[in-house]
Amino acid sequence: MSNSKGTTPVAPIPISRKPAPQTTGQTPPGSKTACIRTFGCQMNVHDSDRIRRMIQDSGYAEVQRYEDADLVILNTCYVRENAVDRVKGHLGELNRLRREGRVKKVALTGCIGAAEEARSLERTYNIDLVLGTHNTYELAEFVGLPTMRETYTPELPGTEGEHSAFVTIMTGCNYQCSYCIVPTVRGRMMCRPLDAVVSEVENLVAGGTNYVTLLGQTVDAWRHGGKRFCDLLEAISEVAPRVWFTTSHPSNMEDRTLRAIGERDTIVKRLHLPVQSGSDRMLKLMHRGYKAERYRRKIEVFREAAQGGTLSTDIIVGHPGETEEDHEQTLKLVKDCAFDSAYIFKFSPRRGTEAAGLPGTVPDRVVQRRFLEVLRRVEQNGFERNQRKVGGVEEIYIRHGSTDDGKAIGETWSGHAVHVNSGADPGTYVTATIGSAGPHVLYARDPSG
Ligand code: SAM
Ligand code: SF4
Repeated sequence: MSNSKGTTPVAPIPISRKPAPQTTGQTPPGSKTACIRTFGCQMNVHDSDRIRRMIQDSGYAEVQRYEDADLVILNTCYVRENAVDRVKGHLGELNRLRREGRVKKVALTGCIGAAEEARSLERTYNIDLVLGTHNTYELAEFVGLPTMRETYTPELPGTEGEHSAFVTIMTGCNYQCSYCIVPTVRGRMMCRPLDAVVSEVENLVAGGTNYVTLLGQTVDAWRHGGKRFCDLLEAISEVAPRVWFTTSHPSNMEDRTLRAIGERDTIVKRLHLPVQSGSDRMLKLMHRGYKAERYRRKIEVFREAAQGGTLSTDIIVGHPGETEEDHEQTLKLVKDCAFDSAYIFKFSPRRGTEAAGLPGTVPDRVVQRRFLEVLRRVEQNGFERNQRKVGGVEEIYIRHGSTDDGKAIGETWSGHAVHVNSGADPGTYVTATIGSAGPHVLYARDPSG
């Protein structure tokens, strides 16, 4: 699962995307076409849904290939340098297609659009429109709609008829982690009122949505009108048939939220709680605001409250100043917490962040070794924990319907990803026994009934 760029999503559970009306070059003559490419996290996937709505509202048909598109929108990520390199590759290709007259206009949106570097990219690649995360709604005007800020901001009314949907409850971030560009490109935290979120979810559910994912950079930091995240989560768990949330910050994670995950039937028993490092010295240098021991205690509460649930994390290896001793402490924490999966990142210096100017650069070969050591330990944990599920009967939510090989991808209530032979529709449940397991996924026997 590792890739050479150092980003390792271990055991990712695919997130459903809104299937847009699509064409593959078969659009009626004269109709406008647009292609959207999304890079990065769920927030960006959700922002792309908002963009998709704008282009549909202004009469564009969505196409999948650049060469079929009048307008190409790259909705981008700036968190690590390899994400920027990928986007540059796409921009180079688009420049060529535009010179050949096969693409008319190119827009760059998202986190790169909000960064200083966007200006030089705009010049180098002749980009027609650059928008950051705060003014994405201006795309509306670019595609010929009146600029309706409120229509295309996070206060987006629910999309009806979808089996699964993202709901942004907060934007931005008030932390200042040494390595992270997010506060620069996404701004300070802004939380939506509880009532607005609840009524959006009610609309979604009335329109056929069965699975709601609450989104935010530090989702558990949500607070509004004297209410805290747990109040919101409990309110949503009353109105949605299935709910999950990401991403949480350990400093904001309350024990009562962890207990609610275990107690409430409609909440998926899956926690993503990024730790970043197992060393207190590194956590301090990173300005994470907690010590490893406090993190461990949170995990104990979660394991107790949601027995058999899944736990994932984010870990950065090779942050400036990371010693062998720090790395050993990370390995120990990984073992103690027995993560089911982890996203492991090689430190990537981002201009404008504190860590980019810190001494103590860790040599590449050391970073690579540490990366593999953490990866192996996470995979070993994942494999051992997944083995315990074999023989158990699970109610599986179908996230992605079966492909040509007849296999659908689902998710158990414990948050495990499962491959299952089933023609069931996305958004429905099947019951099946787990026949075998790998480090990243469970494999079900043929479903009953
Ligand atoms: N808000 C979340 C939190 O604090 O845990 C994380 C959001 S960030 C977009 C996702 C992950 O990217 C982080 O948890 C971190 O592990 C990783 N990341 C962020 N900046 C990075 C950098 N400069 N180099 C390597 N990994 C980075
Ligand atoms: Fe970045 Fe830290 Fe904010 Fe997460 S909490 S988005 S890592 S600054």
